[in-house]
Amino acid sequence: MRRVLLGGTFDPPHVAHLVAGEVAFRQLEAEWVTFIPAGAPWQKADREVSDGRHRLAMTELAVRDVEYFDADDREVSRDGWTYTIDTLESFDPDDELVLVVGADAAAGLPTWHRYEDIVARAEVAVVPRPGTERAVVEEAVGAVTWLDMPLLDVSGTEIRRRAAGGQSIRFLVPDLVWRYVTVHALYVD
Ligand code: ATP
Ligand code: MG
Repeated sequence: MRRVLLGGTFDPPHVAHLVAGEVAFRQLEAEWVTFIPAGAPWQKADREVSDGRHRLAMTELAVRDVEYFDADDREVSRDGWTYTIDTLESFDPDDELVLVVGADAAAGLPTWHRYEDIVARAEVAVVPRPGTERAVVEEAVGAVTWLDMPLLDVSGTEIRRRAAGGQSIRFLVPDLVWRYVTVHALYVD
């Protein structure tokens, strides 16, 4: 089973995550794209992250209409900090894993816990993202597989900022996620 893994805080999941999943599915010839909301995200200790139950629920809604997308609860269900290597090692050893990350995340990959083990267990593929030059990524991780995705200048940070300011986030997130954010009044101070 060839499986793409797309991890993130998904606070909230937005269009760029879905486009990344779609291009990864096609270009990497995968059978599944598994979206994994992070548990207690140690890299975001500087801000409050929405409860894992909300982020998992939104991720489930985001992937619901796509047969080859699924949302996985293994990180939000785990106690304590989340390390990518633990997640990779929790999949069936027969699974062929491809870790897909945005350019910003890719540039920091070598600092991730047990980086060498990560790249031994999974292939890495990168989607371009505004704000991080390809050269910066390649300087950090060397030659890497780039996926062909249009640059989308969308981020969870900007979406939360807009929601907090009373601006619409409709169409920046899937419709069901937009409704969920509204009903639960997420991101409003
Ligand atoms: P935040 O602003 O809260 O960090 P985010 O938009 O970066 O939110 P994450 O959940 O942190 O979303 O990202 C999950 C993964 O998706 C990361 O690998 C990230 O690089 C990638 N990603 C997020 N947004 C984009 C984008 N607009 N283009 C390409 N990759 C993206
Ligand atoms: Mg991010």
